Order: sequence, then C-alpha cells, then structure tokens
Amino acid sequence: AESIVADLGHGLHQARLYETEQELVSRLKEIDDVKTDFMSTVSHELRTPLTSIAGYVEMLRDEDPGPINTGQARMLDVIARNTARLRGLIEDMLILSRIEAGTFRASRTAVDLAELVRNVHAAIAPAAAKAGVSLTVTTEGDLRLHVDRDQIDRVLANLVSNAVKFTPSGGAVTVTARREDGEVVVVVADTGIGIPAAEQDQLFTRFFRASNASHLVVPGTGLGLAIGHAIVRNHGGTVTAVSAQDEGSTFTVRLPA
Ligand code: ADP
Repeated sequence: AESIVADLGHGLHQARLYETEQELVSRLKEIDDVKTDFMSTVSHELRTPLTSIAGYVEMLRDEDPGPINTGQARMLDVIARNTARLRGLIEDMLILSRIEAGTFRASRTAVDLAELVRNVHAAIAPAAAKAGVSLTVTTEGDLRLHVDRDQIDRVLANLVSNAVKFTPSGGAVTVTARREDGEVVVVVADTGIGIPAAEQDQLFTRFFRASNASHLVVPGTGLGLAIGHAIVRNHGGTVTAVSAQDEGSTFTVRLPA
C-alpha cells in the first residue's frame, strides 16, 4: 500500500492538484488510514451481534427452550454453518486491518512444530476423509522454534485445508515438516486442480480467488493466503508456491529456527 500511495501521489502531483508531493502523499496516507480504521471498526461492530446469534442458535440446537423437529434442526444447521462462515470472514478482516495498521504483533513462545502439524492433521482429517482425499503427515528432526502459536497454527491450517478443498476425490495431500540448517521447512503438497500459471503472481494478494476455483462450491474469501503470507513474513520467514493447473500445488513455508 505504501508504494501504491507513493506512486499515486507522484502521479497526482504531476497533474498539479497539490502544492507539494509531500503534502499529497500525506493526504493519501490519511485516506488509507481511514480505510483501515473503517475496516477495523466494522469488523469489531459485527462481532458482538454475531456472537449473540451463534449463542442462541446453539441453544436452540441443544433444545434448551424445548424440543424441535427434524426440519427445524436442518434449518438451524444451515444458520449455524453460515454464522460460522461470517465469523471467520470477520475475524480475517480484523486481522487484515491489524496487519495494515501495523498493530498485528506476534507473541512468541517455545512451540514444537511437530505437535502443531499433528494438531492440524487431526483437525482436518475428518474433512479429508469425507472428501475422499488421503491426508498424510510426516515430521522429521527437532522442530522446536519460537513463534506465535495461534498465528502459525492459522497459517498451516489454511494451507492444509486449501490443499484438501482444491483436491478432487481420489487425490492426495502430503504434509512434511523437517529441519534444514537453521530453518524449519513445512511443505504442503496436493494433487489437486492447481492454479493457472497466469494468475500465480496474485496468489498472496487479498481477496484473490483463482478462475478455476471460483466455479467450485467450496466457500472461501481469498484472505487466508494474504494473511498467512503476512504472518510468515512477520516471523522472518517465507512462503512460496509452485503449481501446475490440473496437476497440483506445493506450498513451502520456511521459518527461521
Ligand atoms: P480461500 O481459500 O478462502 O479462497 P485463500 O487466500 O486461502 O482463500 O486462497 C486464495 C485462492 O488461491 C483460492 O481461492 C484458490 O483459487 C487458490 N488456492 C489456494 N490454495 C490452493 C491449492 N492448494 N490448490 C489450488 N488452488 C489454491
């Protein structure tokens, strides 16, 4: 955003709409801040009523106020699922606004990445089984490092759930975590639909969804990879992707140990 603002500032200055380039750049920065503030406020304001809705839906499903019939139960399932989606989206927007405001900080503790990878496996295995995708995890060597546990968990969960989401039945997802010199390397590989070559450079841009994915019914916002990229960079690491359409994708995360 910084460089876009600077470029825009330069262009508009050339058009002589502002006295100095400096003046214009600071004005554009103000506007950008307002946008980030807005995103943050809206996300916060949406969170509270949504928490209330989710709570009451759960009470109804638990038949707290009284018995419900199967038709009503099915409807409540749909409400619960969509409420969860909305909460996920709002959570992502909140994180993104913090990243943009520079207030999204990692709180690092000693974490064993092998354990984290196993947790992600346990969480996603049922969805993989349901989708007919085999999911295997291998860990190798000493994978302890100092990271923000929740943030790295989010990155890995996003990569593995994407891999499962974008792999048709009969395919495979493999996750390997290993130590390599001063780094811990996690590779998430799938035999899925891949990403069209021409779109790969947008992969870590927010709200990006590839053209071959948008027709799938899998829900998504296109925020996961943008957030993951920012988190890994914040930790001094890198995340890269190699993909071939209709063959599969491989995402590699490198974190300094
Ligand atoms: P979401 O999955 O919510 O759409 P992401 O930021 O996690 O958001 O992913 C952005 C897009 O990148 C996806 O919509 C999809 O088009 C593409 N993508 C991500 N991971 C994969 C993958 N493993 N295989 C194929 N496409 C992928």
